[in-house]
Parts: sequence; C-alpha cells; structure tokens
Amino acid sequence: MTETKDPVEGLSSRERHAKDAAPPHDEARVPRVVAAAHVAVAHGTQLKMRAKDLSVRYGEKVAIRDVSIDVHANEVLALIGPSGCGKSTFLRSLNRMNDTVPGVGVDGHVELDGEPIYGPQVDPVLVRRRVGMVFQRSNPFPKSIFENVAYGLRIAGVRERSVIAERVERALRHAAIWDEVKDRLHESGLSLSGGQQQRLCIARALAVEPEVLLMDEPASALDPIATAKIEDLVSNLRSELTIVIVTHNMQQAARVSQRTGFFYMGKLVEVGDTTTIFTRPKQRDTEDYITGRFG
Ligand code: ADP
Repeated sequence: MTETKDPVEGLSSRERHAKDAAPPHDEARVPRVVAAAHVAVAHGTQLKMRAKDLSVRYGEKVAIRDVSIDVHANEVLALIGPSGCGKSTFLRSLNRMNDTVPGVGVDGHVELDGEPIYGPQVDPVLVRRRVGMVFQRSNPFPKSIFENVAYGLRIAGVRERSVIAERVERALRHAAIWDEVKDRLHESGLSLSGGQQQRLCIARALAVEPEVLLMDEPASALDPIATAKIEDLVSNLRSELTIVIVTHNMQQAARVSQRTGFFYMGKLVEVGDTTTIFTRPKQRDTEDYITGRFG
C-alpha cells in the first residue's frame, strides 16, 4: 500500500505524523500545515495525480498542448470532447502508455502521489501497475477466465497458488462478474458476452490492485444493459480507487463522474464539478459542445 503524500509539502503520512509530533521549530509553518490538511479533508480533495503543462506530440503533430489538471483521490473524473481532441492521448500519458508509440514526444510533468512518473529513474512497468488501464474494445487473452485475471499477478511475481486463487476471486467480485463466471472459471475468456468480456478485462486490471484506473470509452461498444453494469461498477469502485474515464457519451459522464474535463483541439478548455460543467460552464466552447452545437 502506498503512503499518501501531503499535497502541500510532499510529505508521506508517516513523515507528517513524525513532524506533527515533534516540537515546532518554525511556529509559522505549523498552522499552515494543519490548515491545509483541514481544507483537504473538508473538501474531500486529496491529490492523487497532477499533470502540469503536459504536451504530447506524435512526430511533428501536437496532439495535446499545455494540459494542467489535478486528479483527486477516490473521484471519477470524466474527460469529454469531440473525436480527435486528445482525450485518449492525455489518458495514456497518465500511465506512460504513450511510451509504446514510436515517435512520441512528451513534455511537461505528471505526478502520482507527488512523485514524477516520467523521471529518469522511474520504471514505466511499475507506473502501469499502480495506474491500470481498460480499453474501448475488450481484449481478453485466448486463455481461461481464471488465467486472464491471474496473468497480471503472475507477471508481478506472485507464485503461491492459494494467493493467486484468492486474488482472482476478489478481482472478479470487484468487477461484478464473479456470480456469472464462478462455475466456469476454466472456460475461455472469449466464450463470454461482450459486456462480460469487458468486466473480465476490468477484473484483470483490478487484480494487481492499482490505485488509479484509466478507462478509455469502456462501454462504447456495449448494449445499454451491459453499459449500465459498467457504469454501476465504475460508481462502486470509486470507494477503493481513483478513476479517470474518457467517454463520448455526455449522459454517461453526468451519471458516473464527480468532475468533468472538456477537451477541444488538444487543449483542456475547462474542468470542474460535473454538475457545473453541464449546467453553468464558464467557457463558450464547453457550452456549445454540451448543447450539441458541435461534435
Ligand atoms: P480522442 O481520444 O479525443 O479521439 P486522440 O488522443 O485519440 O483523441 O487523438 C488526438 C490526435 O492525435 C488526433 O489528431 C489523432 O489522429 C492523433 N493520434 C492519436 N494517436 C496517434 C498515433 N498513435 N500516431 C499518430 N497520431 C495519433
């Protein structure tokens, strides 16, 4: 379990407690820390990730420019905007998934619990273990349901069979698919319906117990009933982790998220409480988009 960092001072909770217990050498600092902690608790906004002046280009083509946004712990942050505006590019930059694209260039900063994820010492594999991802098209491996979920654990070096079995079950329960598959764990993952396959992929992502889950249009290929299940799941998972979800479906953003960011032409135009974005946006472009004038 990763310790949370103080958003103001970058201290871990253990360091902060030690600091609070020690006699204050600098009287002026103490009230500031206490006040900051108080504000964070009062608003329920502990910082989980932060992007600062983030730009990503593919070769010469700039896909996103100077994006700065905070992701709060245990929120669902929805990203909306017309096709091609850079939502997926931004999402993939939060766990260094863009690194796998040839010719990609990333400028700016992304932090996870106050630590840079693009630092020279940082192993992208470890970043992706903490920041998992679910894609638009469910992509189960041609393996059993059980092995699909156990895969990430085995890669992470978990060997003990009882531990693997227990964590596979827990992940399938969290992904709200256990009851549907518990009697057929050794059948192929590809034998499941589209909606079940997507929940299986969510279980696979959850098995390594990520702190943040990135979801790129996870329900766009599904029917309304399967979509509703994914949306319920997203809402329920928020108590345990932080979710950033790209969706082209504004109703879905309104249903599942607490905050929404609107992207347009590679820029983050505005981010705020979902209700505010959908009822009283500050920017004209946001208003035009949510009222259907373009996109
Ligand atoms: P969105 O998710 O909002 O539809 P994307 O992030 O997928 O937007 O795309 C943003 C821009 O970057 C688009 O112009 C798209 O064509 C371009 N792009 C995305 N992925 C790649 C890639 N792998 N190589 C080159 N250009 C890309």
